[in-house]
Amino acid sequence: MRQNLFFSKIVGLLLLLLFSSAAQADTGALRDIRLWTAPDHTRLVLDLSGKIEYELFRLHNPERIVIDMQQTELKTRLNQLSLPDPVIQEIRSGVPKTGMLRLVIDVKEKVQPRSFLLKPMQGKPFRLVVDLMRPDQAKKEAITADVSKKQKELIIAIDAGHGGEDPGAIGPHKLYEKVVTLAVAKELAKIVDATPGMKAVLIREGDYFVPLMKRVQLARKAKADLMISIHADAVRTHTVEGASVYTLSDRGATEDKAARALAAKENAADEVGGVAFDQIDDPVVNSILGKMLRTDSINSSHMLAETVISKMKHAGPIKYSSPKRARFAVLSAMEIPSVLVELDYISNPARERMLKTREHQKLLASALFDASVDFFHKMGRLKDSTASAVASDDTMSLFAGN
Ligand SMILES: [Zn+2]
Repeated sequence: MRQNLFFSKIVGLLLLLLFSSAAQADTGALRDIRLWTAPDHTRLVLDLSGKIEYELFRLHNPERIVIDMQQTELKTRLNQLSLPDPVIQEIRSGVPKTGMLRLVIDVKEKVQPRSFLLKPMQGKPFRLVVDLMRPDQAKKEAITADVSKKQKELIIAIDAGHGGEDPGAIGPHKLYEKVVTLAVAKELAKIVDATPGMKAVLIREGDYFVPLMKRVQLARKAKADLMISIHADAVRTHTVEGASVYTLSDRGATEDKAARALAAKENAADEVGGVAFDQIDDPVVNSILGKMLRTDSINSSHMLAETVISKMKHAGPIKYSSPKRARFAVLSAMEIPSVLVELDYISNPARERMLKTREHQKLLASALFDASVDFFHKMGRLKDSTASAVASDDTMSLFAGN
């Protein structure tokens, strides 16, 4: 009897210890905070030690956004953020009651907040994403797009892959895919915009993430005549090198394994970059491949892809000498001839070094430009040789000037 009593006391003590350590483990931490500025919103990403309960609300006069996080401690410094940004003036923190962490975001204008939690993936922890949308800025964007529609220029949508939270592939010397894609996209836009009768639309202009479906929408809104999505691939074997070009495939089409795996990798961008679950729809399944793809759009994208390969040959090694097909979400604007270009393998240290240089970025951009001009000629969209003649002059002077 006495032994039993003693035993139950021990058990009770053990249980108490267990519960108290469980309670301690429940206290989460805000470990890091990052800020990404897009034209129509600012995104804050909070790295958390685990899932948390939180509440987000607005206060006026002055405008501010408040986030109350239950059982959370601040384990990072807020003053490391590069502030002010176009939306955020300052971020402050406080502890309004035991265990609760409060962030107060002072904003410069009325914003529409949106927030969601992301599960851990690809080495990233639990994240709380807070988007501060600028309704006025979004309206302005729509107006600019309308103006471009009225001009009878050939419009090239240039999509720099990844961005913001999503670095894309990372090279052995820590070169980020998102950096290379944006640099080449900007070089290409420069050449296009210097060409009479042509206009570039950059789908991403800075270091922020654009969801895959938004990329497609932006290309459509701009009434793009073609779309080039720019990427750089990575594999385990560091000696692999060369460019490859992809188009969208029909559901029934034979895709090779590597192309399908690549599409899955690129399509995961939304989850890494941070798109709320209810915002991800499977566009490829929902809107395109449920129906039959129009053969002419497949053919023109394929022709564009072949032209890109033939021009990329002059800029560097080629991995596959013919285009491949797979279900890339970003290529789902099927009425616009669209290709996805993997410039090279960033996982190859020698190629990574090349991809980092301005000269090589320009060379790749001019190959993509030449391919676009060639494609427009083949499609009968460029009636005379003026554009290409002017273009190559411009390209030359562009190179000569640097
Ligand atoms: Zn990519």
